[in-house]
Amino acid sequence: AKQAGRGQYRFFDPSLNKVDIEEFSLEQAFGQALKERQFVLHYQPQIRLDSMRVEGYEALVRWQHPEFGLLYPDRFIPLAERSGFIVALGWEVLRLACEELARWNALGVQAWLAVNVSPLQLRHADFSYRLLQELQRYGIRENSLELEITETAVLDYEGQAIDNLTRLRAAGLSISLDDFGQGYAGFSHLQALPLNRLKIDRTMIAQLSNSHDDSPIVTSTIILAKRLGLEVVAEGVETREQLVCLRLAGCDLAQGYHFSRPLTSAQLREYAPFSNAA
Ligand code: C2E
Ligand code: CA
Ligand code: CA
Ligand code: CA
Repeated sequence: AKQAGRGQYRFFDPSLNKVDIEEFSLEQAFGQALKERQFVLHYQPQIRLDSMRVEGYEALVRWQHPEFGLLYPDRFIPLAERSGFIVALGWEVLRLACEELARWNALGVQAWLAVNVSPLQLRHADFSYRLLQELQRYGIRENSLELEITETAVLDYEGQAIDNLTRLRAAGLSISLDDFGQGYAGFSHLQALPLNRLKIDRTMIAQLSNSHDDSPIVTSTIILAKRLGLEVVAEGVETREQLVCLRLAGCDLAQGYHFSRPLTSAQLREYAPFSNAA
């Protein structure tokens, strides 16, 4: 482990061979990481189930740390949320997303990119204006960006968050409710939100098994969401059996290891829809 002085890194535990982010001097490490562009995005394909074509990708942030290697979001997003750094990180992620979309445009690739947005970002009154400005600056069509939000975003900061989402959706962005079925999610306020899609949490998908009629919760979630005019995305699809269940239940889109792990920008170039394009 390193020295523990003020502003020092002290988060490497050799006995566990593991980074202990809790002991990290946040402002310094995050600030430097931003400056040195250490955050990168990986991209996981989203497949439309009736055509089995890739129609979009979810952007997932990683921290390419010079000393500790590739850090996954579960290691730093919760702390970034607590410290408020998530707002700066969120803008970096949106900037990276715009850069990638601009590259796709240049390659002639038509796909949307879905980006995770923190509740803390959405509560800022100017979020929507600033985002629309960014899209314009990069020449990105509004309908190629999707925002993945969680319920807490709209429960905690209802007015401001919903105003932002309403403006963005009116401008053509797509809004997707993430992790449905994970928390206290109810259908009641689904109708009140400006949504295009509902993402069924992977803990619900994991309960789908071999027999096709043992999934009443997933099936009725899909039916209800579609009745509300939403498209349904299943996340964390790992097996063929889950895929079969979801197709039978009328699910629109799916993503998960069964199709592909999240890919780097370079790996995307070798992925079929990309090499076929342009
Ligand atoms: P999430 O939004 O639910 O993202 C899906 C997570 O599930 C990703 O983990 C993805 O790699 C993983 N996954 C995908 N397919 C499968 C599968 O078939 N099986 C299993 N077991 N897992 C699968 P990841 O990349 O570690 O991201 C974790 C969480 O970090 C995300 O959960 C999201 O809440 C958060 N996150 C990621 N990127 C961002 C970001 O740019 N901004 C914010 N605010 N949060 C982010
Ligand atoms: Ca997500
Ligand atoms: Ca999710
Ligand atoms: Ca999740």
